[in-house]
Amino acid sequence: MHKSRTRAVPGEGSLHPKVMFLGEAPGRSEDEEGRPFVGAAGRLLTKLIESIGLRREEVFITNVVKCRPPGNREPRYEEISACSYFTDAIVALVNPSLIVTLGNYAGYYVFEMKGGVRWLGVSRMRGRLYRLKVLGQERAVVPTYHPAAALYNPQTLEFLQDDFALIKEYVHGSGGRGEGLLKFLRGGSL
Ligand code: URA
Repeated sequence: MHKSRTRAVPGEGSLHPKVMFLGEAPGRSEDEEGRPFVGAAGRLLTKLIESIGLRREEVFITNVVKCRPPGNREPRYEEISACSYFTDAIVALVNPSLIVTLGNYAGYYVFEMKGGVRWLGVSRMRGRLYRLKVLGQERAVVPTYHPAAALYNPQTLEFLQDDFALIKEYVHGSGGRGEGLLKFLRGGSL
């Protein structure tokens, strides 16, 4: 894919992030700018990140492939595999304690290719935080939908917001959607 790309999109963000976001592939805007998630889906991702009290600059954002697939097609297994040389190096270097996978390709990559866990698809896997050994190191993983899928689907956006509440709870220790339930349980009402 490097032959047809304008710019490679290796990823960007903090080199010591608590959270890393893993997407699918650069689109047209990303290919032009050399930066991940700068188009419409990217603007939604940025909003979601900010909605839980984080800034783009304090997380790391990358994709399972670093070049735009020609004609915006989906990435192929061999391409994800070839790029894993970079993806794995990035994970090792920035060493996030939480990886958020956006969509089925990122989920498949982290769970099935690197985590030794069967990937059953985003709709069945999302909604909880996993503890997985990814590339030999235990990490928290939150699988969720790709923000592009939520652009025109309010139900998907709601699921994404619920999953971001899990991220918020992990990062800030409270304030997530489960907070009320936790308080209720701790209060000994059950
Ligand atoms: N979609 C992705 O998966 N990654 C990007 O960088 C932009 C859009």
